[in-house]
Amino acid sequence: MSGIILKTEEEIELMRESALIVSKTLGMLASEIKPGVTTLTLDALAHDFIKDHYAEPGFLGLYDFPNTLCMSPNSQVVHGIPNHTPLAEGDIISIDCGAYKNGFYGDHAYTFSVGEISAKTEKLLRITKESLYKGIEAFKRGNRIGDLGYAIQYHCENEGYGVVRELVGHGLGRTMHEAPEVPNYGKRGRGKQFLDGMVLAIEPMINMGTHRIKQLKDGWTILTADGKPSAHFEHNVALIDGKPELLSTFEYIYKALGISSDEEVAFRSQPLVL
Ligand code: MG
Ligand code: MG
Repeated sequence: MSGIILKTEEEIELMRESALIVSKTLGMLASEIKPGVTTLTLDALAHDFIKDHYAEPGFLGLYDFPNTLCMSPNSQVVHGIPNHTPLAEGDIISIDCGAYKNGFYGDHAYTFSVGEISAKTEKLLRITKESLYKGIEAFKRGNRIGDLGYAIQYHCENEGYGVVRELVGHGLGRTMHEAPEVPNYGKRGRGKQFLDGMVLAIEPMINMGTHRIKQLKDGWTILTADGKPSAHFEHNVALIDGKPELLSTFEYIYKALGISSDEEVAFRSQPLVL
């Protein structure tokens, strides 16, 4: 298993702590996202929130990234840099957040609606999030990385959406990006086998149109080649006793937005205490 670092139960519990700081940060942001707010304002809130929880922003300075959050509105796929442009009614905004505590990283993402969005865009968000759980479901003993990618790809391409190829999920631990790479596409039965102690960041990046992307001259921002919207949802998941165990949660977001959901229940060995 070249380069894959398996984690002990104790290490996984520390990783859960880092992941939950990210989850709480996204939950805090959920109440602040509205037309008129700038992504830089949200970035500053997240920075202070993470520090207040005795953790370090995981992205700030990583590969020289300038901010705490990657904020990618509308046709931006990932790695958008916060700026002074206010969010507008009908926008979507993908927020990717990292936190570092006790030597381990948490790293997950959610795509939020700003006010009311179109039914077509709403569907893109729903299908992308569903595909994340399809991927998590496939992260189990006996399966391989190709099974996980296939599950995500099948669910999204079935709707005519484009699955980004150049950017992938990854192993997570004492560094933000560890082996293995976890593509959101693949062939069943191919790739490395899943083993207990693996911790993955599973993160479908799904475009309403073409899967093709381009990059802005800032060297960071990735956007869709056709200008259509893109969505991104990410969870941190450990393999324990052959089954996927969620370390992150969207429940803080749902609590802030007044949403009730049972989507995570199947992937927890113990009930979540918010
Ligand atoms: Mg991320
Ligand atoms: Mg990630």
